[in-house]
Amino acid sequence: MSAGKKEAKGDTVGMTVPKKDFSEWFTEVIKKAELADLRYNAKGFLVHRPWSVLCMKEMYRLYEGELERRCHMPVWFPAVIPESNFKKEAEHIEGFEPELFWVTHAGSDELTERLALRPTSETAMYTMYSKWVRSWRDLPLKLYQSCQVWRCDTKATRPFIRGREFHWIEAHDVFATEEEAKNQVKEDMEMTEVIMHREFGVPFISFQRPEWDKFPGAVHTYAADTMMPDGKALQQPSTHLLGQNFAKSFNIRFKDKDEKEKVAWQTCYGPAIWRMFSSVVALHGDDKGLVFPFKIAPMQVAIIPIGGTEKEAYGLQKELMEAGIRVIVDASDNTPGWKFNQWEMKGVPIRIELGPKEVKEGRLTLVRRDTGKKTQVNRKAALKSVLTEGGELTKSIISKADNWFTGKISNASSMKELGECLKSGGFVRTELCSVGKDGEACADRIKDRFHAEVRGKRIDVEEKPKGDCVVCGSKAQEVVYVAKQY
Ligand SMILES: [Zn+2]
Repeated sequence: MSAGKKEAKGDTVGMTVPKKDFSEWFTEVIKKAELADLRYNAKGFLVHRPWSVLCMKEMYRLYEGELERRCHMPVWFPAVIPESNFKKEAEHIEGFEPELFWVTHAGSDELTERLALRPTSETAMYTMYSKWVRSWRDLPLKLYQSCQVWRCDTKATRPFIRGREFHWIEAHDVFATEEEAKNQVKEDMEMTEVIMHREFGVPFISFQRPEWDKFPGAVHTYAADTMMPDGKALQQPSTHLLGQNFAKSFNIRFKDKDEKEKVAWQTCYGPAIWRMFSSVVALHGDDKGLVFPFKIAPMQVAIIPIGGTEKEAYGLQKELMEAGIRVIVDASDNTPGWKFNQWEMKGVPIRIELGPKEVKEGRLTLVRRDTGKKTQVNRKAALKSVLTEGGELTKSIISKADNWFTGKISNASSMKELGECLKSGGFVRTELCSVGKDGEACADRIKDRFHAEVRGKRIDVEEKPKGDCVVCGSKAQEVVYVAKQY
């Protein structure tokens, strides 16, 4: 489609909403950069367009690579789970039942057993794990799958943040000992750091969730929380120490080295690529639109031929693509200025401008998306310069996101201060009587008064309380973080 046609329809080229109006900005960038089409006629289900899928495929590749480096193997389990599987773990079914979609009929015939669309795959996978795990030699068993899951969320849905169908990875591990399971929790958090933070540029804090906010059926839940530009926390990957709860319900036992039969220990980990994508969009974007880290950009380079240099542009594209770079040539009849805006809005990290004079002199102009910095480079050094500038862009936007994130943590030692801090958004560090069941009443009072949640206590650093519970005034046992959340 040409610019002329778009303007004739009354659409404005480029972004019109500044990022400080985050909610509207987010919706506009999804539409204008063509990440998703929001007009599908099933509430909470999203139509993903190529520009988001290309990025998420790269995100999947990086995450799956990291899981496999750490000895996880891929599997594909069915999307449906028989009702009887769910009933085996009482807390799990209780937690998930309100959100389940059920398949009840085949044609006009009612099924003898209802099938749930998986909301998560514990009850599918562990049914098979009980058949696969026999001896200590079968352990550890570390499997993952990349798939969609379905939860009939009744809260307001937001594209890439909260939906009734979302795309994620789930890893399910089985061990012979509790210690190995606990170490896996640490390894899961390391993967979150190595991939989500260092590759996608999404900063986070690791929390142990309070007792009242655990995954249904888990002994402990640990979660990485990031922050959105509007100051609301967003939960990213969580990892659950399942202990022996599911292993007992699903009969996952093994004969140990001492010939005794033992119950296995388990963990599960759920990096939701879909939701991480929302953080990538939200944290790195600016008033002009999207900004992608170089490695996961849908297209990494946009070449704009100016004044009849199409042939050279396609030649350069071929050369860069052979080196594994994703490159688009915009040879449409739009003006160069329109094209610059368009590819900036779509977040392409590097733009290459190629005019007749540059072709003649054997050079090209390279423009970085994040800073707008223009560099003249030798044509022969095109690949090297693209990689260098791409790497610099990634480093720079990650450190920008980190600095912003660090500034989003404040401190409160009274309910009044807590309320004031929460008004300006971010995480508020404060002290609570307990993160066990005893503390729930105090957390509820925070929730009622400020519509904010106790996210838990940090697990990356040890923090000792010095004063009293911010709510009830009894001696504080924990340093906790409170935030409004998505
Ligand atoms: Zn208290």
